[in-house]
Amino acid sequence: MSPTLRASVYVSAPAPFLGPDGKPLGQWSAISSALIYSEHEAVLVDTAITEAQNVALADWIEQTVPTKRLAYIYITHGHADHWLGIGYLKKRFPGVKAVATKGTIDHMREQIQPELWNSTYGVRFPGQIDTNFVLAEPLPPNGEFTLEGHVLQAVEVGHSDTHDSTILWVPSIKLAVCGDVVYGDVHQQLRYAKTKAQRDEWIQAIEKVEALGPETVVPGHKKAGEVDGTWNLQASKEYIRAFEECFSKAKDATEMYELMMGSERFSTRFNPSVLKYSYLEKTTRFTSLKLEKADLALKVTTIGKLTYVAFEGRLEEVADEVDHYL
Ligand SMILES: [Zn+2]
Repeated sequence: MSPTLRASVYVSAPAPFLGPDGKPLGQWSAISSALIYSEHEAVLVDTAITEAQNVALADWIEQTVPTKRLAYIYITHGHADHWLGIGYLKKRFPGVKAVATKGTIDHMREQIQPELWNSTYGVRFPGQIDTNFVLAEPLPPNGEFTLEGHVLQAVEVGHSDTHDSTILWVPSIKLAVCGDVVYGDVHQQLRYAKTKAQRDEWIQAIEKVEALGPETVVPGHKKAGEVDGTWNLQASKEYIRAFEECFSKAKDATEMYELMMGSERFSTRFNPSVLKYSYLEKTTRFTSLKLEKADLALKVTTIGKLTYVAFEGRLEEVADEVDHYL
């Protein structure tokens, strides 16, 4: 076995994105990509979204490991903001193999269904994304691959910010690269953890990471400069629990925002607009869904594991509890 592995983390800066009306809607939270390397080879975990972001990521890889071969790109989960750079990186690093679990690959395929794509990333980042999509290839069922003799392990942890989430576990250096199972100082995206059961499952997913005994924990969204401490595990669980508590107390999105942001624990997190949106998903939109169910029944569509309805000109995921009304 070659010498001890090492790792570095690149953070793609927040990217402005547009709403369905073509007007600026906000900043996409910064995305982290971890690079794990041995004597001659390296593995990247997750990419960024836009072509410009992925060019900068590739430049950084070249600067960080100029003499090593990029052997693999591992994708933690199906959300497109973590894998749209595969095609470009394959051109920059010929021979690199993109890998993921079957659950992640199925989800990737869903994300680019034209109907869904055209109401999500297609409108958010027009002309900025390479749409010659390249998906990952499936890992063997045990989720293992190696980097010069060091085992790297895909660990399936269930639902976190989406279904079929995984982390990459590197036992020899006790490194957990967590995708969106764990966040840094950034508001957690709870709009896809729509039910209490899914939010509880997210907490259990974090506990599965804790049970591995990591010494370094890389969050999928973080601020540049943050150290990847194990405290991210506890903080991510606290955030979900606080969200649950505030959600049960708040009368409306504004009060929800004030309750969460009033806490010193969360007031420094980047992108508080995520918080408001997570709340609105569970109240205004769902109430509307119930009120308009007869009409909406005509617009329901299922892509892969998820059900969507047309809402304000775009497709929105529907929770199990709302499926009941449709
Ligand atoms: Zn995600």
